[in-house]
Amino acid sequence: RAKDAGRGVFRTYEPQLHVQAEERRVLEMALRKAIENNEMHLNYQPVVDAGTGGLTGFEALLRWTHPELGPISPAKFIPLAEEARLIESIGEWVLRTACDEAASWPSHIRIAVNASADQLQNANFVTVVTSALANSGLSAERLELEVTESVFMHEGLGATKTLERVLDLGVRLSLDDFGTGYSSLGYLSRTRFSSIKIDRSFVQGASKGVREAIAIIRAVVALAKSLGMATTAEGVETEAEHQMVQDLGCTKVQGFYFGRPLPVEEARTLANRRWSDAQAA
Ligand code: C2E
Ligand code: MG
Ligand code: MG
Ligand code: MG
Repeated sequence: RAKDAGRGVFRTYEPQLHVQAEERRVLEMALRKAIENNEMHLNYQPVVDAGTGGLTGFEALLRWTHPELGPISPAKFIPLAEEARLIESIGEWVLRTACDEAASWPSHIRIAVNASADQLQNANFVTVVTSALANSGLSAERLELEVTESVFMHEGLGATKTLERVLDLGVRLSLDDFGTGYSSLGYLSRTRFSSIKIDRSFVQGASKGVREAIAIIRAVVALAKSLGMATTAEGVETEAEHQMVQDLGCTKVQGFYFGRPLPVEEARTLANRRWSDAQAA
């Protein structure tokens, strides 16, 4: 595009590209040491039963605070960690930490952990999950791994096999950000997902009355139901959005309306209370 616009544009873009490359290099170097330097921690966002309003679990979300640059969004550093091949070690730390912390919560509270497609390419992932469960004492049924549709784009590399072996451990799987990637109904029927997470873009669209968004949520809910899967509406921010996804039959909800990602102590306190008590407090 810059080429079409002529030479002058190249001059404008070049320094910016340079800064981006430089920033990447700096962030990548910092990422390599982020865990040993204690710069990472997990936040936990409540997941709520749409029908009863009860807390069913939390999703672990990785946070990185760079000593000079401050907090950096996972939307920025996760792709970088993937490209730099650091996601396996970071992902292992996330899994172990989340299992350790969740093991002390009440036994009906589940913990969802995001796993990058890259982690699933390596058969060693099964060993890591097994070890994280054994070391923490968390029962496999309480662990839910969130994967996106992108894992199925590398099927030849064995991700499906890894998923099967993880399922055999008793761990649950959910399909994250549904509808934003290369959705194929084939893998939905081949892989035993416990739930489908409907991306926030559809939730927002539906509550604004966008007919396509409503149609898609309705279809996904029907499909999930017939396959025996739950549906989680992601990114519910308002009462109107909550009402909409509840009317459309989503079984679980998650979003700022129910709770922001919380530090571990606050998550533990919440887990130890009934959700209704927490609402009244
Ligand atoms: P995700 O797994 O789909 O997580 C949901 C994201 O939506 C989180 O962003 C969460 O803070 C945000 N969110 C939740 N409720 C609301 C809401 O009501 N409104 C809005 N606007 N946003 C909401 P976050 O924490 O920035 O994470 C972004 C993405 O980074 C995650 O999307 C996930 O793909 C990735 N990620 C985060 N932690 C990890 C991790 O430990 N491992 C891997 N592989 N990826 C991670
Ligand atoms: Mg997720
Ligand atoms: Mg998501
Ligand atoms: Mg997302």
